[in-house]
Amino acid sequence: MTYSAEEDFARQMDRQDSLGHFRGRFFLPCNRAGEPLIYFVGNSLGLMPKTSRAAVEQELDDWARLGVDGHFDAATPWYSYHESVREPAARLVGAQPHEVVCMNSLTVNLHLLMATFYRPTRSRHKILMEEPAFPSDTYAIKSQIAQHGFQPNESLILARPREGEFAIRQEEIEALIEREGEQIALVLFAGVNFFTGQLFDLEKITAAAQKRGCIVGIDLAHAVGNVPLRLHDWNVDFAVWCSYKYLNAGPGAVAGAFVHERHARNRELPRLAGWWGNDPATRFRMQLEPEFVPVASADAWQLSNPPILAMAPLGTSFAIFDEAGGMEPLRAKSLQLTGYLCFLLDQIPSRLFTVITPRPPNEHGSQLSILAHERPKDLFTKLEAAGVKADFREPNVIRVAPTALYNTFHEVWRFARILAEHQ
Ligand SMILES: *Cc1c(COP(=O)(O)O)cnc(C)c1O
Repeated sequence: MTYSAEEDFARQMDRQDSLGHFRGRFFLPCNRAGEPLIYFVGNSLGLMPKTSRAAVEQELDDWARLGVDGHFDAATPWYSYHESVREPAARLVGAQPHEVVCMNSLTVNLHLLMATFYRPTRSRHKILMEEPAFPSDTYAIKSQIAQHGFQPNESLILARPREGEFAIRQEEIEALIEREGEQIALVLFAGVNFFTGQLFDLEKITAAAQKRGCIVGIDLAHAVGNVPLRLHDWNVDFAVWCSYKYLNAGPGAVAGAFVHERHARNRELPRLAGWWGNDPATRFRMQLEPEFVPVASADAWQLSNPPILAMAPLGTSFAIFDEAGGMEPLRAKSLQLTGYLCFLLDQIPSRLFTVITPRPPNEHGSQLSILAHERPKDLFTKLEAAGVKADFREPNVIRVAPTALYNTFHEVWRFARILAEHQ
């Protein structure tokens, strides 16, 4: 792709963009003058689809009209509501439908799946994760280690960027797995790192870890809806994600979980159980069936009946992804948007900032992380004042994520101009 820094080029790209009309399907937050902000924080909270309000109202109406009968008579019966979002979720992560369930929140799902898949022994008790990692994942992992009577400072190992670098080298990850593999119970990696925006080679990491007998879990918070995934084919053991970032399903939206079918069908696995994970055939026999009989699918990890009002926006969000043709066309546009942003930032002669996200297209998603060398907070405030919605990560990183569903090339062009003028 050859880019140009001329404004006309950006406008031309928008005119040619076959996904451009999806922008109109979202509510765009505006400044005081009523003009849309340059919303580059879809990696933090995706925008609200215009269809989401009606989807929630449908459930409220069904509740008002039907009361308890809504479980079977609602437009989408509540009893099996989670099944209505299973297939589109499975398409986004590259899974078989029975490998996926939408439930809870990300950190809760991480704990539930670690309860099954992190079974440390004296000789194999370590967890390998990347640094910097999102704090919730670190807390969850350290508390799981402690829960099993091990010490986080002995059992947690971190794959880090080399001195003076920002991305973690693939060979570094593989070397760690090679060296410590026999003691590693679980490799828990992000799909895309929240801080640097680095996209990891999940297929290679999974293969290297499994070769050494480790279980592989992936946190897809910044990857789902951002990059194409093939969890089933990559043979990942389990994965979790949230649905309020690139998936646009609303603040605190219901999250997702993937369990590879070779585990999902295994009814013998230890797990934390609740009635919604029980085989539906006997679920309502209640006190007559005190023995838990797990469903032979990812549903077996469900605990409670689903929060219907919170799940409604998942359906509208997935419908947009399906209508756009899934992740392949979205990824193609995303690579152009982010590639264009890289190109424009390279044109700015100053040395006051560095893009720390890896450049190769197979090593990043939508997000670019910009490290500001001088007065980073001031720069961020100036960007905000100029109508850019970005986010700031201490101590000095500004994250911007133009997303394929609702951002434009012209917004990328304007952002680069604003940055050049204000830094
Ligand atoms: C966003 C994010 C979370 C958030 O966790 P919740 O349980 O949804 O609050 C956790 N981990 C990572 C890597 C994230 O990016």
